[in-house]
Amino acid sequence: MITNTEKIKIIKRAQRELNAKYKKVAKASDLQEPMHVLIASALGANPFAPEAKRAIRAMEKAYVDWNEARVTRAPEIAEHLTPHGIPGSRANHLKKILSGLFDHFNAVNLDFIEKLDPNPIRNRMQRIEDLKPEEIDNILLLSFGVNVLPLNAHVQRIFQRIGIIKKDTSPTAGHSLFKSALGKAAVAGFYERVNLLGEKICTTSQPACNTCPLKLECIYGLVKRGLLTESEAEFPLPADIRKRTPKRAAAKKTRKKAKPKKAATRKK
Ligand code: SF4
Repeated sequence: MITNTEKIKIIKRAQRELNAKYKKVAKASDLQEPMHVLIASALGANPFAPEAKRAIRAMEKAYVDWNEARVTRAPEIAEHLTPHGIPGSRANHLKKILSGLFDHFNAVNLDFIEKLDPNPIRNRMQRIEDLKPEEIDNILLLSFGVNVLPLNAHVQRIFQRIGIIKKDTSPTAGHSLFKSALGKAAVAGFYERVNLLGEKICTTSQPACNTCPLKLECIYGLVKRGLLTESEAEFPLPADIRKRTPKRAAAKKTRKKAKPKKAATRKK
């Protein structure tokens, strides 16, 4: 059973590895316009994606304001997304969020939240049923500098594979864990780097564990590379894990499998 102290140490090591791998990211002080963060979040898991920024520019050129986008048919919105690599299906989610803004606040902008403190922002935004918790957290972190790590698809997948959060970890428990591990000024940079890792290396279907900077921290990666057996796949990791080579671990596995065969032959 892994303790919270050990989890915090793993997150700190992951932070160091990611800082070394992805040196250039936005500064914590570079706060973004809330409406842009909201739209980018609606267009995909990664709110830093350049594709989302290009699609937002295309829509801003095409529509007088976001209210015009709200009343536009989804297939027409999709025409501004697909040339930038955003799936056309995201137009439906975007439209639902724009409609939610209109229905609850009688405006298709976020001007009103600029005057609010963070807690009321979360409470008010939660009224929009189609808005996911991590999309609200994106706004809090990236537009208001609130120390909260959005638990988006990339964060969830990577830290579940590493083995320190579970599918059923509550957002409150996840937030508190990352808050304890990351310095206040470092959350946005960490989040951007985790998103880069999730898009370029730790992808959903084909994680490239051999090239991953977190490969010595990650249970999924260690098993996949043959450095850890299924029975060892939990924290704390075996003390010799950093010395193992894929060849030795594979040989160990083969030896283990060969034993029952010998016993069967002797019985006959
Ligand atoms: S080692 Fe593999 S599974 Fe683990 S974080 Fe890296 S790419 Fe993802």
